[in-house]
Amino acid sequence: MLIFKKIAELQRYLKTVKKSGKVIGFVPTMGALHKGHLSLIKAAKHRSDLTVCSIFVNPTQFNDKKDFEKYPITTASDIDKLVSARCDILFLPDVAEMYPKGFENKRKLNFGFMAETLEGEHRPGHFDGMAQVVEKLLNITTPHFLFMGQKDYQQQLIVGQLIQKRRMKVKLITCPTIREKDGLAMSSRNVRLNEKSRILSIALSRALKFCKNNLAKKDMPLKTISSLAAKSISANPEFVVEYFEIRNARTLKPARSKSEKLIALVAAQIGGVRLIDNMLLN
Ligand code: AMP
Repeated sequence: MLIFKKIAELQRYLKTVKKSGKVIGFVPTMGALHKGHLSLIKAAKHRSDLTVCSIFVNPTQFNDKKDFEKYPITTASDIDKLVSARCDILFLPDVAEMYPKGFENKRKLNFGFMAETLEGEHRPGHFDGMAQVVEKLLNITTPHFLFMGQKDYQQQLIVGQLIQKRRMKVKLITCPTIREKDGLAMSSRNVRLNEKSRILSIALSRALKFCKNNLAKKDMPLKTISSLAAKSISANPEFVVEYFEIRNARTLKPARSKSEKLIALVAAQIGGVRLIDNMLLN
């Protein structure tokens, strides 16, 4: 695996790769890699001739300074995992390389409701920072395919909008959420869960599964399903549920009927760790 820390050097290399007609697949990450990330590398390898992974903990998408400071950094083991997964290229820039002129975003896009609701409401500015760095990374790597996880459902919807609005040629491929055996969605933040919180954390995926299992029941309106699911989490005082919602899976607008394409989404904190998860219901 080749490791590039400088944008210009990576671009020079990718230019020759592209000239030879090779298909480039790109997987952006913030590191602390787990099997979820590696499933994206696998999907990228399947569809591309050359797989590029980036590791960059982007300061502009953290609305909470403490969350940024506590974000796990495990570069040496990340490199080992990427080598084992036979990733071709790792792009590992530092903050000065990505933001030589500071963090200001002069080309901020307006994603409207989709970026204001759910995560947007609870993490103000998060999606602006995320879109800023994803656009930069796409301009640097100019891949044919971009691989992202369903785990961050709202994020991949907004990246889809970014690609459309900027008329980029890249095709977004959204890959399924990889879970631990007990159902917990894999996340870099899971390493910060203590033993008790780790056990309790399965409440999230259970509540989502509850929604899926009960969707077809006639005597269960959507509102009842989501409030019972939310209560099943908040019944434990260790949890702070930020939201539990059933929404239209395409627009994220509040769901009105069971005939729409639906998704349940949750964000909750436990023991100072913020977890998110979601499940398509139909
Ligand atoms: P992150 O490093 O958390 O920014 O995530 C990088 C990419 O990996 C994003 O596209 C995430 O949606 C994806 N991802 C994170 N966790 C999982 C998971 N459990 N399963 C599949 N993809 C994931």
